[in-house]
Amino acid sequence: MRLDFTPEQEAFRKEVRDWLDEQLAGPFAHVRGLEGTSEGITERFEWERHLGRTGWNTLAWPKAFGGRQIDLMEQVLYHEEYARSGAPGRLSHVGLELVAPTIMMFGNDEQRARFLPQTALVEIVWAQLFSEPNAGSDLANVQTRARLEERPDGDVWVIEGQKIWSSFAQYSQWGMALVRTEPGSVGAKGLSMLLIPMQGKGIDIRPISQMTGGSSFNEVFFDSAETPANNVVGAPGEGWKVAMGTLMFERGGATLGQQMGFRAELDRIIRVAKANGAARDPGIAKRIARAQAELRTMRYTALRMLSSTGGNRAALTYKLYYTSWHQRLGELAMDVMGAAGEIAEPGSDAYRLQKMYLESRSDSIWAGTSQIQRNIIAERGLGLPREAKPAK
Ligand SMILES: Cc1cc2nc3c(=O)[nH]c(=O)nc-3n(C[C@H](O)[C@H](O)[C@H](O)COP(=O)(O)OP(=O)(O)OC[C@H]3O[C@@H](n4cnc5c(N)ncnc54)[C@H](O)[C@@H]3O)c2cc1C
Repeated sequence: MRLDFTPEQEAFRKEVRDWLDEQLAGPFAHVRGLEGTSEGITERFEWERHLGRTGWNTLAWPKAFGGRQIDLMEQVLYHEEYARSGAPGRLSHVGLELVAPTIMMFGNDEQRARFLPQTALVEIVWAQLFSEPNAGSDLANVQTRARLEERPDGDVWVIEGQKIWSSFAQYSQWGMALVRTEPGSVGAKGLSMLLIPMQGKGIDIRPISQMTGGSSFNEVFFDSAETPANNVVGAPGEGWKVAMGTLMFERGGATLGQQMGFRAELDRIIRVAKANGAARDPGIAKRIARAQAELRTMRYTALRMLSSTGGNRAALTYKLYYTSWHQRLGELAMDVMGAAGEIAEPGSDAYRLQKMYLESRSDSIWAGTSQIQRNIIAERGLGLPREAKPAK
């Protein structure tokens, strides 16, 4: 395991740091510190389009698709510096980190040429339309269906059904949807991955109000919505294979760089605890010290995963570990603030920590719940027998 970085990696870190500091002290100073899923949406999209125009959205993309093709360690360095700089969380994550790699891997040349450049520039914002009311952990139970209809001006898929928890769908121009295209099929068979224009007729996007006060996700209803026949990624009927590819991107590298953001949150808790005297409470002091030690453990685990070759069972445990750590950090923040945390004013440390606490509740749900992560660790990591499934 390597605990230090090469001179080239340090040079890359400096390049990223200098550029971000320059932007966030200058033309984009107003986006620094915007957080959560509802603050400064318009300004943040402008910032993300600026990142696209200046080439910072596609650092990890292959050179063949206009990217810089940096390696995984550099991706982590980039994400670390991004979080350290105070730049806001990304709203175009679905397009850049999930849809684009899926189109690169499973799409055809026409789809790559049509969608990748605009996705890189955040001219297209994407929604990931996988989950349904009865198809979340059991994703293969998708019931939204599409039928191919012949039309004089070109065949179309006609879509009926409902999706839910579609992050940022209210801002999206396009959606990538897992739908059933073979009538009567069950489970992972007979599914297809469709690219669907979200502003078209027959689509109703309804934001869901969340306890944070924002609306980051939505219900999406399809009532004879349409997309041209060639907007299928991979072969019709092979949607499951494509979806598994997308989820691999979701659970992989995209989550590895967030420790610098955690560091900033922990530092904020320490600042508040010192200011309001909570740090003198031995129980609080112990929990803060423990959070610090565990964050360091996560860092070494991430470095071990990155320098590992071949089988890497540690990677299976990472999401479960960091999400439960983050939820405990949220609880610690609320205990440090006491009653003041309940009525925090926007813009204050207390307000940001309160939002962090509330948003951390979803960490153990998105991209595979903690229960599902434990199943994965048991089955793939420890080789235990596979979970019994009801016959379909
Ligand atoms: C912040 C956030 C953003 C999201 N964004 C998107 C998005 O953009 N697009 C999208 O398609 N989806 C999105 N989702 C949905 C997310 O993928 C699902 O919520 C998740 O897969 C869980 O599915 P579910 O909510 O239907 O819960 P269910 O699958 O109904 O699970 C309910 C409970 O039962 C447990 N459970 C289920 N099956 C098992 C099992 N076999 N063994 C043990 N326990 C089990 C689960 O762990 C959970 O605790 C988002 C979710 C969140 C929280």
